[in-house]
Amino acid sequence: MAMESLRFHEFMPDKVWKWKILEERVEKVLSLHDYQEIRLSVLQDYQVLHTGITALMQGYEADNAVKSVLSLSLPESKLSLLSLRPEGTISVLHHTARIINDGEVHRFYYMGPMFRKAEAINQMEFYQLGVELLGSESILSENEVISLGMKIFQELGLNGVHLELNSYGCSECRIAFFEDLREYLKNHTTDFCKSCYEELYANPFSETQCMDAACKHSLKQGPQIGNYLCKTCKANFDKVKKIQANLGNSYKVNPHLFKNFAYYNETVFDFMVTHEGKELVIGGGGRYDYLSTRITGKQIPAVGFFINLDVLFEIMESKRMFREKENDFKVYLCSESENLEMMTLQIAQELHGNGIKTIISPETTDTKTEIKQAIAKQCSLMLIIRDDNIREGKILMRNLMKEHQDYIPLKDTLPAVLLARKAMKQEG
Ligand SMILES: [Zn+2]
Ligand SMILES: [Zn+2]
Repeated sequence: MAMESLRFHEFMPDKVWKWKILEERVEKVLSLHDYQEIRLSVLQDYQVLHTGITALMQGYEADNAVKSVLSLSLPESKLSLLSLRPEGTISVLHHTARIINDGEVHRFYYMGPMFRKAEAINQMEFYQLGVELLGSESILSENEVISLGMKIFQELGLNGVHLELNSYGCSECRIAFFEDLREYLKNHTTDFCKSCYEELYANPFSETQCMDAACKHSLKQGPQIGNYLCKTCKANFDKVKKIQANLGNSYKVNPHLFKNFAYYNETVFDFMVTHEGKELVIGGGGRYDYLSTRITGKQIPAVGFFINLDVLFEIMESKRMFREKENDFKVYLCSESENLEMMTLQIAQELHGNGIKTIISPETTDTKTEIKQAIAKQCSLMLIIRDDNIREGKILMRNLMKEHQDYIPLKDTLPAVLLARKAMKQEG
């Protein structure tokens, strides 16, 4: 793959302010629900990660998952020792296993870049929000997590997000489903392409990337997990549907909602949104009660979800959902004589100290140039310092909105600026 075809995240100031609004609103909801932020390293131990992702997988499926991890091999070693994190759940489980006491519940979230190799996609880096509730297997905890995801979209003002739900059953009731699906595959070999057949045979919950409509159609004709759920799993799933409906979250049961990570059990869900005529998965998650025992040796029931922040950001940006704070009052400060650096910085310090956004012109030039720059920086007010004025104890203040200027006493600079700000705010 040629280097120029790779795409990395690089957000310039014209996008960063939007990211900050998004993050701020997401964090507001999380904090209301008492979720605490965890900051995980982007670098992970290859072996720990390998054990984590393959914990509940077999053969073919495990190979695929491992192949998607971006690893760095150090020059002096032939082994891959470090990997770029492809997800955060494994690290969160290791962390929780070290600190959790019996009966405790922990709520965590993390945001930031994740890395995965995917054929045909040049984007290996994507921003993700991960949310995990650990230590409870109650139906309530599961519904709290699902509703929290929906709440985040509401807080962001993104309408029309709906849920897709499915149940993977427990370790008992899914066995019969696995057996029957494998039997069905064997009896319908010619109805599937080779890769779908192999992938589904290894993991009946695999989300195949195949675009062949025939494969999809054949899978729909086969056994469905919903018909294999035991009494408890069925009752739990019915309860989830009922609670979500009563909370006003619209959902659709999708018996073919499958996730590549075979570690889920019982409820799995996707957050879906229709954007420009296309149905997009904007995030999703599920319950994973068995994973921790496999990778940390400690049993920790858990439920969580991720939101693909790149997709979310793009949708919000295309819908023009970010608005800059209006009436952002800014002062432009410049000197038109040499050797006034100290004076300039002292005035700036006083204004900054009073919470007034002040931009200092680093060069000494003429008024016309300075006005141009002040306007380009969207400043409302200009302070111009000149040698001869200073000697007379005054400073020139120019109102850029009204194109009007006046001399004010140097010692009254702060109150004059505050007064101008107040007047401009009132004028809107
Ligand atoms: Zn069951
Ligand atoms: Zn196929």
